[in-house]
Amino acid sequence: MKTLILKIDKKNPERKKILLAANIIRKGGLVAFPTETVYGLGADALNPKAVKKIYEVKRRPFDNPLIVHIARKKDLFRLARSVPKEVKILIRNFWPGPLTLILKASKIVPKVTTAGLDTIAIRMPNHKVALDLIKACGKPIAAPSANLSGRPSPTLAQHVIQDLYGKIDLILDAGPTDIGVESTVLDLSSPTPQILRPGGITFEKLKKVLKDLVVHPVAIGKKTTILAKSPGLKHKHYAPKAKMIVVEGKNRIKKIKELAMKNIYEGKKIGILAISKQLNTLKKNCIVKFFGKNKSLKLVAKNLFKLLRELDEEKVDLIIAEGVEDTGLGLAIMNRLRKAAGYKIIN
Ligand code: AMP
Ligand code: MG
Repeated sequence: MKTLILKIDKKNPERKKILLAANIIRKGGLVAFPTETVYGLGADALNPKAVKKIYEVKRRPFDNPLIVHIARKKDLFRLARSVPKEVKILIRNFWPGPLTLILKASKIVPKVTTAGLDTIAIRMPNHKVALDLIKACGKPIAAPSANLSGRPSPTLAQHVIQDLYGKIDLILDAGPTDIGVESTVLDLSSPTPQILRPGGITFEKLKKVLKDLVVHPVAIGKKTTILAKSPGLKHKHYAPKAKMIVVEGKNRIKKIKELAMKNIYEGKKIGILAISKQLNTLKKNCIVKFFGKNKSLKLVAKNLFKLLRELDEEKVDLIIAEGVEDTGLGLAIMNRLRKAAGYKIIN
């Protein structure tokens, strides 16, 4: 299949391009498009055949349900049945934005979209291209991240090209995504709201509007024997090709340097994902990539997946990543880093 790639204006998406993309989705095709979190791979959420193609091209396990994207808040009420009272305040405060709500699914939702579950994941993205596209389709769009399953999520159109070129109809390229980690997945289908995956909307922000809120142990990203409630979280995730270790805690700089030297001595090519300037000294012997110019967690989140892919291109044998504290956006960052490392954590 030939994949068409179209640059599109982020703030004022060209109408012609939106209509072309919407037409592809309406006919059952696949379009990769930008959101504020990462690029999504979209299909008509109500067309089982089209949704099935998403799983096939991504090689996504069929038990891992998709997030359904809408462009008007009221569309939630068509897709979900029995909407709990917290929904109103959550969508008033956080939609459009990186918050996905898990609710009981209505009858119009095909089983393949929810991977056979009786719940549905819904969000309204905060990106003009995504919103215009959904509106032009007149249909909700099912869209997981537009990467091959298990690989780091795409924050540039180039990443989508790397993973899916020749397998999908169209890629809309609006430049780098803003947030860089996926949405927060919040389960509202059981009595106490529970974060199943930390993301763009932090625990602290949610806590301001919700009286009761818990974080599922799996969402922290450390290895646990407790079963994931979000099916996707039990699968391999965000993994670079190289082996990876995350180093956390107070003495992390010293530990990273020791680990790097030991592995260099063994003849390995090492990549470092760094925040602290003290790691600059490793530049002589390792490929050191800084998340950003300063210690801002926003920059860490924005650049995380891109740098993982860059280190893969450098063909390093081992990636050593500097951890952050898991508060605020740090919880989402550590969840991604720990999973990318296959839970190999030093602290
Ligand atoms: P992705 O869009 O690829 O970033 O993944 C979407 C995430 O939402 C995965 O972790 C899914 O397991 C999760 N998810 C989607 N639908 C549901 C649902 N009905 N219940 C729980 N988790 C869900
Ligand atoms: Mg994904």
